[in-house]
Amino acid sequence: MELATGGAVNQMSILVLNAGSSTLKYALFDDAAKTELAGGVIDWHGSDSSATFHFRTSGTEDSHTLVGSPDYRMAVNEILDRLTANGFDKPVTAVGHRIVHGGPAFNQAVLIDDRVREELEQISTLAPLHNPPALAAVEAARKVFPDAVHIAVFDTAFYSALPRREVVYPLPYQWFEEYGIRRYGFHGISHAYCAKRAAEILEREDDSNLRLIICHLGNGCSATAVRGEQPVATTMGFTPLEGLMMGTRSGSIDPGILLHLMEQHHMKRDHLDEILNRQSGLLGISGVSSDFREVEQSANAGHKRASLAIEMFATRIRSTIGAFAVTLGGIDALIFTAGIGEHSRTLRSRVCAGLQSLNVLLDEDKNQERSADSDIAQVDSTARILVIRTREEQDIAHAAQRLREESS
Ligand code: AMP
Repeated sequence: MELATGGAVNQMSILVLNAGSSTLKYALFDDAAKTELAGGVIDWHGSDSSATFHFRTSGTEDSHTLVGSPDYRMAVNEILDRLTANGFDKPVTAVGHRIVHGGPAFNQAVLIDDRVREELEQISTLAPLHNPPALAAVEAARKVFPDAVHIAVFDTAFYSALPRREVVYPLPYQWFEEYGIRRYGFHGISHAYCAKRAAEILEREDDSNLRLIICHLGNGCSATAVRGEQPVATTMGFTPLEGLMMGTRSGSIDPGILLHLMEQHHMKRDHLDEILNRQSGLLGISGVSSDFREVEQSANAGHKRASLAIEMFATRIRSTIGAFAVTLGGIDALIFTAGIGEHSRTLRSRVCAGLQSLNVLLDEDKNQERSADSDIAQVDSTARILVIRTREEQDIAHAAQRLREESS
């Protein structure tokens, strides 16, 4: 996204916070939630004594080290200080918070009050890795910005429209009813944004039959089948562990493997959790890195397991596209987004190499030179192939702006 010029524009009004287990991403938007004025990330890199503070605004970008343990109050204050020092000193009137899991209760963005705060607290057990840091950031931001409205935007909300056949797992039905074992789906903010943006690019905004397959390929990876901006199927499930192979997450595996490891190798829950969430995927197979660029570099240098990791990664995406094409009864557009989807030409090329049978045809020249939000399909391809730059922060800012207006 183009950043506006710094202090001269000086429209500080909506702040977006996206808290992960050891990062806090932030972005400052103008009052209309149209222009990103500044942004960055505080990254503790798993350390409990220091973090890197990254800041960018128009024309400048820099990083420095912050000393101190992960503490969101300190982090939000640092963000405020840095913004103010750069001339962004208008009051923040709305803070949009990305919350990964909205549980069964939240199917749209909400104003955070004490009741919502309590409900979110209860949902935390559903997403122990993701929700607690976000709630800590909410708590900190409410203290630092007591006069602003605080809004929660959920990754799961987009999927509240998923058909029941996709929501229920083929397990005893009581588990769905009594234990709430069901598919939630994640990355919904990104998938919803891409669906809307694709409809705009294709000039089919009002077409309720527009069939899209969106591949969000970043550190976390998921694919969603969408018809007319409504989700029809998605790969992530009860947790963000299901589905495609990811940077460090396994994606779908035979659950019998876990039973075997517990029984024959006496592996405990926490160990399996660590392996499935942090030691698998691209990292687990390549043994090199979870970062796609590094795995690609190693593969190019002849590293066999790095090549295998990329082949597996691409194959699983391709199989999912095939399955979703059948679910949708055809594809009007295939969309690549997030770090790998937006930037890796070779990955897009590999994925599309298996799609000729669907007459989804990549134009290699356009793939090499692609710019953001462009069509890289051949003219005679049945489906368009779009690379879309995902803008989760902007969507959160829009929701914050809308709810702030409604509540005033
Ligand atoms: P995200 O979670 O969306 O930030 O995406 C992170 C992933 O995108 C990492 O695996 C990066 O290696 C990958 N990525 C970022 N830039 C590139 C690039 N230029 N080429 C290939 N992969 C990239």
